[in-house]
Amino acid sequence: MRVEVIAVGTELLLGQITDTNSSWIGEQLAMEGFNSFFQTKVGDNLNRLSDTIRLALERSDAVICCGGLGPTQDDLTRAAIASVMGVPLESDEEMEERIIAMFAGSSRRMSMNNLQQAEKPAGTEFIAEMPGTAPGLLCPLDWPDPDSAGEPLPKVIYAVPGVPWEMKEMMSGTVLADLRKRAGLDSVIRSRTLRTWGESESGLAEMLAERIDALDESGNPTLAFLASGLEGLKVRITAKAESASEADVILDREEDLLRGILGPLVFGVDDETMESSVLAMLRERSMTLAVAESLTGGMVGSRICDVAGASDVFLGGVISYATQVKYDVLGVSPGPVVTSEAALEMARGVRTLMGTDVGIAATGVAGPDAQENLPVGTVCLAVSIGDAGGGVEDSIEVRLPGRRQQVREFTVISLLGLLRRRLSAID
Ligand code: ATP
Repeated sequence: MRVEVIAVGTELLLGQITDTNSSWIGEQLAMEGFNSFFQTKVGDNLNRLSDTIRLALERSDAVICCGGLGPTQDDLTRAAIASVMGVPLESDEEMEERIIAMFAGSSRRMSMNNLQQAEKPAGTEFIAEMPGTAPGLLCPLDWPDPDSAGEPLPKVIYAVPGVPWEMKEMMSGTVLADLRKRAGLDSVIRSRTLRTWGESESGLAEMLAERIDALDESGNPTLAFLASGLEGLKVRITAKAESASEADVILDREEDLLRGILGPLVFGVDDETMESSVLAMLRERSMTLAVAESLTGGMVGSRICDVAGASDVFLGGVISYATQVKYDVLGVSPGPVVTSEAALEMARGVRTLMGTDVGIAATGVAGPDAQENLPVGTVCLAVSIGDAGGGVEDSIEVRLPGRRQQVREFTVISLLGLLRRRLSAID
């Protein structure tokens, strides 16, 4: 089964939006074992979009169009599919009512254009999930097969919205299952990602070598490593089974096994981030946190604030970028400021200043130039926990790889990782 993806939108061609939808869909198709040889981006133009869909149907069995399902003039995906299928667009009364009811239940005003979204090419279906206001389309059709003198072959076009979370819901809920059904596959593929921090990719591979060999033999589940910057180093487990619940049993068993080998390196599963994990640990221990940041310039605080409800734990921070601010505001002793001692003084200083149970700090050389004769990537991290947590203090110097941005990102996750380790030791 060959499946190809068409991302629709002039903004994609102009570089105003990065086409992350195609990458995500491509990854899902690969995981399911479908061949996908082409991904195309096309602007909001009816003829060019129709031609692109036709070309895709010539060389693939299924085509997934994403974007261009909105209510405006330049949302042309519905019309292009109708034109390729040679059928008219028909308005669906039930869908009209659903859209009207959806707007009636919200504070948004519905324009008549929104009803355009209730149209579908004759003989096609809407996708069952509809998380936004744009319905998706499932359009089976017969397409002449050039290899057998034009005898038609059953093919399918799907249309999903461009908004990533809406697209994902329809892909996971309907499209992938429908593709599997069409391909005659009755197996289910599910995956789970363990997020780790503290070992390199090769270090992880070494720790898991025996398990990887065993899995290579059995073929199910499979493991894959994915380095994801400040999201950590991911280990993805993919299981195939006859039902979702059987696949989940395989994933549970493998997760237990890997956790047994990797221990505290695992900080989260799937969408759980290092910061959400650390905040949960602080909350469990009824502890508050303050941050002193030098080279990260606020990134640590910002990541923490990305987690909804962080305010009960995170009180604030100091961006002590200049040396003088480290001395004057945080009480760091005069002298070099990229040292473990200076980092610890920063952590203590911010903890005292904000009156929190825990202070953490990062200082270092992000580059591009070396500083205080220290190479780029030299970073000092510190944690200072007050009496409520047993008065634990820790400070380390690390060498992080990469250029300025990467060094800063790695600093964020390394600092939170250090705090996580220290908190694990406190009940
Ligand atoms: P809706 O009516 O729900 O907006 P739509 O199908 O009309 O859906 P578009 O108007 O094409 O979607 O895109 C809406 C938004 O979705 C874009 O502004 C962009 O933020 C995001 N988006 C669209 N296409 C992509 C893509 N290929 N990759 C990532 N994001 C995308």
